[in-house]
Amino acid sequence: MTYFSLNKNAPNVSFQEAVVKGLAPDRGLYFPSEIATLPTSFFESITELDTVEIAFETIKQFVGNDIPATELKRILTDVLSFDFPLTEIAPNISALELYHGPTLAFKDVGARFMARCLGYFNSQKETKEDVTVLVATSGDTGGAVASGFYEVEGVEVVILYPSGKVSDIQEKQLTTLGKNISALEVEGTFDDCQEMVKQAFLDEDFNGKKTLTSANSINVARWLPQMFYYFFAYKQLKNQGKELVFSVPSGNFGNICAGMMAQKLGLPVHHFVTGTNANNIVPHYLKTGEYQPKPSVATISNAMDVGAPSNFIRIQQLHGNDISVLRKNLSGYSYTDEETRKTMLQLFKENNYIPDPHGAIGYLALKEYLAKKNGLYGVFLETAHPVKFLDVIPKRISDEIEVPQSIKAIMDKTKKAEKISTYSQLKHYLLS
Ligand SMILES: *Cc1c(COP(=O)(O)O)cnc(C)c1O
Repeated sequence: MTYFSLNKNAPNVSFQEAVVKGLAPDRGLYFPSEIATLPTSFFESITELDTVEIAFETIKQFVGNDIPATELKRILTDVLSFDFPLTEIAPNISALELYHGPTLAFKDVGARFMARCLGYFNSQKETKEDVTVLVATSGDTGGAVASGFYEVEGVEVVILYPSGKVSDIQEKQLTTLGKNISALEVEGTFDDCQEMVKQAFLDEDFNGKKTLTSANSINVARWLPQMFYYFFAYKQLKNQGKELVFSVPSGNFGNICAGMMAQKLGLPVHHFVTGTNANNIVPHYLKTGEYQPKPSVATISNAMDVGAPSNFIRIQQLHGNDISVLRKNLSGYSYTDEETRKTMLQLFKENNYIPDPHGAIGYLALKEYLAKKNGLYGVFLETAHPVKFLDVIPKRISDEIEVPQSIKAIMDKTKKAEKISTYSQLKHYLLS
């Protein structure tokens, strides 16, 4: 298996190289050169397979020979050591809860998989050289990466987050681990963090001094394992007989793009729906045909505050770069914070379900799409545990949320972060 750069101006690379590099030298995202549909027998017998077997069958072609099968299975067993339950909340509508991992957000799977792949590659090297994972976070990525990479040999992690713009729990998750994980508190926005990270990747002064890689969802090892969720849901819903619609609350569009990859592998999906907050670049594009990235706007669903969704180019690639093909497979809607809050209350009161702000947007988008259709089964992805957003959830609901033990433990730990505000401070930090 090789990967090519979507900017088409860089050599093809192996899985290992794509993971270690993150981004191609021409700044393009890596994309698999070939995608083989899974055999019908896989879908016929899926209800008899466990999560690790499903994950192995679906990812093995993308890893190729870079990780031996037994090792890949061991990695997947380790990565997928928690549940992915489907909770029916109304007739023909279920929430796929992806927040039962260590940092209570769906990003745990991708971050853990990438960390273990890098750990394996390091263990195979004769001369050890440390890799520095540099990552900008608007909230959830940082915690998932910190936890996923904690104590992985040969990997240093540096996380940049916008000061005052992540929730208390999120901040604790990324600033309290120590060891190979450090956090930089940036006086600025998420876009500023992202910009500094990009500048570091382009900076030739690091050549020969530091190997920098990215753990954002542009990295194929973070992006591709997200396919698993859709197969897990299909396994549980296969026998109900209706065609499936997946609604994915989106920011960088990595998660939904992985769902589309699952569909490419043969997973029967009738349609995808995306819900965004005020950062509505993709819904706007689907409506008008104009793609206009913008500076991000802060909302209560902060993990989706993205004004230039980096994975959208992969979505276009999967749809032949043709908007009419894409429109047949994807619908998009955007919602205000007010609508999000109202929906959280409604789900709580009428359906006895406590969503987080991101999941609430997924639910809203699903309802909007299904209102015009009959005979479909809708699944919205619940991407984070509501406890992570206590400060923005209506009080009536937040009083009902039980704080998990893992969170209680982390809240007592001391935050360790260095404040920076400029790129030169970041560079100095990395080189010292
Ligand atoms: C990251 C994140 C999203 C958005 O996922 P993308 O892959 O960036 O579209 C949605 N919800 C939560 C809770 C997240 O952490």
